[in-house]
Amino acid sequence: MTTRRLRLAIPNKGRLVEPTVNLLRNAGLVFETGERALVARVQNFDLDILFVRTNDIVEFVSDGVAELGITGLDLVAETGSDVPQLRTLGYGRCRLTIAVPNDSPFRAAEDLAGLRVATSHMNITKRFFESRAIPVEVIPVSGAAEVAPRLGLAEAIVDLVSTGSTMVVNGLRPIEEVFASEAVLLANAAAQQVHGPIFDSIQTMLSATLAARDRKYLMMNAPVGKAAELEDLLPGLESPSVIPLAHEGMIAIHAVVDADAVWSLLPRLKAAGASGILILPIEKLVP
Ligand code: AMP
Repeated sequence: MTTRRLRLAIPNKGRLVEPTVNLLRNAGLVFETGERALVARVQNFDLDILFVRTNDIVEFVSDGVAELGITGLDLVAETGSDVPQLRTLGYGRCRLTIAVPNDSPFRAAEDLAGLRVATSHMNITKRFFESRAIPVEVIPVSGAAEVAPRLGLAEAIVDLVSTGSTMVVNGLRPIEEVFASEAVLLANAAAQQVHGPIFDSIQTMLSATLAARDRKYLMMNAPVGKAAELEDLLPGLESPSVIPLAHEGMIAIHAVVDADAVWSLLPRLKAAGASGILILPIEKLVP
């Protein structure tokens, strides 16, 4: 077994770079990112970060070049790898979708029988059409599949979509979803046996960061008589804390709530008697 520092492989280019670097930094890891740096030493944790092509990460982790990696679930499925997946990370969400030109008659995958489908995700696409017993010719493209129909290369494409705007610009409409993807944390299977406790602490660090990001800490004052009504409005992780205040007949209520719910919750809390409401960010949250 290796005695070198553990390595975490992350994308060096493309749309997963920024959210991945942000997550690691928010988790408290201190490291530099240079333009052309291939490896960064984490200064406050026994870990090196390798910056590599998004497409190479699954292979690097399964071969043990890196003990851990972050990449898209679509790329794990595409390589057919059984590399252990520690957890999905909630960003880089996209859907691998079948799309056809707006003016074509096709409405469902079955309508493509006997036709050509261009994609950079050959294996997922082949598996999908085989599983539905729809015979198609899968045409490999290395990127920009959305131009294939206009070039006469294929009647349909299977491509990644998040907002759908690239498809609209290219005169395409989605007909069916093939695969849902997001970023995922991968581990080398052998290293997982040896470094279990370190992997657990990295996973806890990332999970606590992601959980905190989605939640806010609310503090408010209220008359004692309003406690029950306010508690009903605050379904948090656990029941809210209710603290008596020096001012007779008043309490403070503290609760953890979903960040998305805060703005709709505020007027209802006020209507139920809350005042002096504070909304605070949460640094880390370990349930
Ligand atoms: P990139 O290096 O920018 O091509 O990113 C590739 C990975 O980012 C894909 O394999 C997906 O896992 C993820 N991704 C997230 N949203 C999208 C999207 N709208 N289009 C392509 N890839 C996406």
